This record gives sequence, C-alpha cells and structure tokens, in this order.
Amino acid sequence: MNRPHQPSVMPTSPKPVVASTTHYTCPMHPEIDKPQPGNCPKCGMTLVPVA
Ligand SMILES: [Zn+2]
Repeated sequence: MNRPHQPSVMPTSPKPVVASTTHYTCPMHPEIDKPQPGNCPKCGMTLVPVA
C-alpha cells in the first residue's frame, strides 16, 4: 500500500465557549449580581442565571 500523503489538516473543532457574560441574580432581589451560581446573601434563594 502506498497511499498518497494526506496533509494533516484537522477541522477546527469548536470549543465549548464559556459564556462569560452570564451572571446570576436572585429572583427576589434583582440588585444581586454574582458572576457565579450560589445563593442570595439576602434571602438564601438559589441564584438564577441571567443571559
Ligand atoms: Zn434574594
């Protein structure tokens, strides 16, 4: 077997882009703005992601 050499061109696989713009807020306290999930410091509710 003498196959022609194939150029090693790999398709650029799309990396999972971390949505850095996503932040988290409390449904009851919109003033709460956290860069990561957690709980509201005021009422303890689970923060919800905001696009
Ligand atoms: Zn809250």
